[in-house]
Amino acid sequence: MSPLSGKVQTVLGLVEPNKLGRTLTHEHLTMTFNCSYHPPPPSHEALSREPIMMKNLFWIQKNPYSHKENLQLNQETEAIKEELLYFKAKGGGALVENTTTGISRDVQTLKRLAEETGIHIISGAGFYVDATHTSETRAMSVEQVKRPTIFDRICVYVSKYTEARIRTIHDKKELLEFAQLGCYLEYDLFGTELLHYQFNPDIDMPDDNKRIRRVRLLVDEGYEDRILMAHDIHTKHRLMKYGGHGYSHILTNVVPKMLLRGITENALDKILIENPKQWLTFK
Ligand SMILES: [Zn+2]
Repeated sequence: MSPLSGKVQTVLGLVEPNKLGRTLTHEHLTMTFNCSYHPPPPSHEALSREPIMMKNLFWIQKNPYSHKENLQLNQETEAIKEELLYFKAKGGGALVENTTTGISRDVQTLKRLAEETGIHIISGAGFYVDATHTSETRAMSVEQVKRPTIFDRICVYVSKYTEARIRTIHDKKELLEFAQLGCYLEYDLFGTELLHYQFNPDIDMPDDNKRIRRVRLLVDEGYEDRILMAHDIHTKHRLMKYGGHGYSHILTNVVPKMLLRGITENALDKILIENPKQWLTFK
């Protein structure tokens, strides 16, 4: 039997699964997202160059990928540390940090944040979209891409499970068909409510109420063992420091609304504690 069996690999070492508690399964604590910069229309260029301020915050919230400074989440380690302590005070225990090579993945900073906050951090690995690949990455063979470096060893096991992540299913019928496959179904943009989705203007981005209705549907259809939730914070404006919802939004705001909409405490414990634990524990 592998020494990993029955344990969870965090950036500070192996832990007992019961230690995780409420777990967010897709967040970022260090990241740069320059690869997704969308130049603003000419009439908005001045706004996009200003520092983040109250007077341009609404514009940044609606055009998050058109403001270069907003894409530098890796500059906010101290604010993120405070927000992790707040997440902990609200009942949070762990999170999966999904930043990959090429977008400022920084395991040393994750270790420091885990040590200083007591939050268990599980680090993702691997590579992101083509625009983030260095010439070194492009020169690698498929076998080399799959093989972990020593530095990556602490987290490569997680990437084995995340490599088949599928973007988003909006259609209700397709969602239920997909759920039947037995994979995990993650709602990971809680807190994001956009009028215009810059990555795909054809889509009306769901809001938190719609996400909650979808979770309720999946629970009603018997899939409560398959649901995961997170915020996928990857820009500055979503931090509390900049008037955003922060890493505790699900626990402080979404959970009470889910209870109000008939999702039971028992189902919520599965979604926030049991399901991540099952997913992250080595068999
Ligand atoms: Zn992400």
